[in-house]
Amino acid sequence: MLGQLDHCERRFGVLGWPVSHSRSPAMMRAAGLQRYQRLPVAPGVLHDTVRALGAAGFHGANVTIPHKEAALAIADTASDAAREIGAANTLTFGDDGSIAAENTDAPGLLAALGGTLPATALVLGAGGSARAVVWALTHAGTAVSVWNRTPQRARALGVPVVQRPVPAELLVNCTSVGLDRSSTDFKDLALDADGLSEYTTVVDLVYRAGGTSLIQQAAERGLHTVDGLEILVSQGALTFTLWTGLPAPLQTMRAAVEDKASQPRVPRAHPLQVTDRRSADPGS
Ligand code: NAP
Repeated sequence: MLGQLDHCERRFGVLGWPVSHSRSPAMMRAAGLQRYQRLPVAPGVLHDTVRALGAAGFHGANVTIPHKEAALAIADTASDAAREIGAANTLTFGDDGSIAAENTDAPGLLAALGGTLPATALVLGAGGSARAVVWALTHAGTAVSVWNRTPQRARALGVPVVQRPVPAELLVNCTSVGLDRSSTDFKDLALDADGLSEYTTVVDLVYRAGGTSLIQQAAERGLHTVDGLEILVSQGALTFTLWTGLPAPLQTMRAAVEDKASQPRVPRAHPLQVTDRRSADPGS
C-alpha cells in the first residue's frame, strides 16, 4: 500500500487488447493516480510485458478484455476470491518483483447493485468478467444461469448453462457485444428487445459513447438499469483503495468517466513495449 505522496509518483495502467475505449485512465487520474496510462498489449506479449512492469516503475495495473484469466496465471500470489473466480482485474507489483492478483469486479458489481440482490439472474458470457459476476451473485445467494455463444466455455463456471436466454429478475451482459461502434444492436446475444421485459433489472458491463443499445432498450421499457460506467466506477474505487489505502473519491471518479473529454479520440492498437523506466509513454 502506498502513501499519499507515493501514489502521485508511481506508475499505473490498464492492460487490454483493445484498450483504446477505456475510461480508466481519465477516472484514475482524476482520483489522483496522475501517472496512469493505457497499456495496449496483445495476448502474445502479455506475459513478458506484465513481468517487466514492476521494474519499469509500475505499482499497479488494471486488467481488461481479454486478459483477466491470463493475468491470474501470471501473478505469483492471488486473493482467495481471484483464485476461486479464476480471473484477475487488478495486479499489484511489489518492490521485490512479485505480482499479486485481486478481483474487484465481483464486489464492484454488488456495490453497483446497491444492496438489492435478486433471487434469480441470467449472465451472458463466460469470459473473465462473467466468472466474477457469477461468483459474486452465487456467493450472495442468487440462483444464476449462464448463456454463452460457446457453451463449452460456460460449463466451466459451475452453474446451469442455458441454450437460449431464460427469464430472471436480473440480466447481466458480460460479453463484449456492444463495445464495437459498428454493433448497433445486440442480436449476437440471442435476445430481442421485446424479450427484455422478462427481466426486472438489466446490467451491461460494456460502456461506450452514447450508451449501449441494450441499456437504451431496457430503459425504454421502464426496467431498472445499471450501465457499464457505474460498474467501472464501483470496481475502480475498490482498486484505488487497495493501491493507496485511501477512500476513493467516488463523485470525482464518476464525473470523470461521464466527461466527454475522457473518451479517447484516436484509437491505439499497437502492442506496448516496456523495457525500463524511460521507455513507456506515461502520457498515453
Ligand atoms: P473476455 O474474457 O474476452 O470474454 C468475452 C466474452 O464475450 C465471451 O463470453 C465471448 O464469448 C463473448 N463474445 C465476444 N464476442 C461475441 C459475439 N460477437 N457474440 C456473442 N458473444 C461474444 O472479456 P471480459 O474481460 O469478460 O470482458 C467482457 C466485456 O465486459 C468487455 O467489453 C469489457 O470491456 C467489459 N467489462 C467492463 C467492466 C466495467 O468496469 N464496466 C468490467 C469488466 C468487463 P465466447 O466465449 O463465445 O468467445
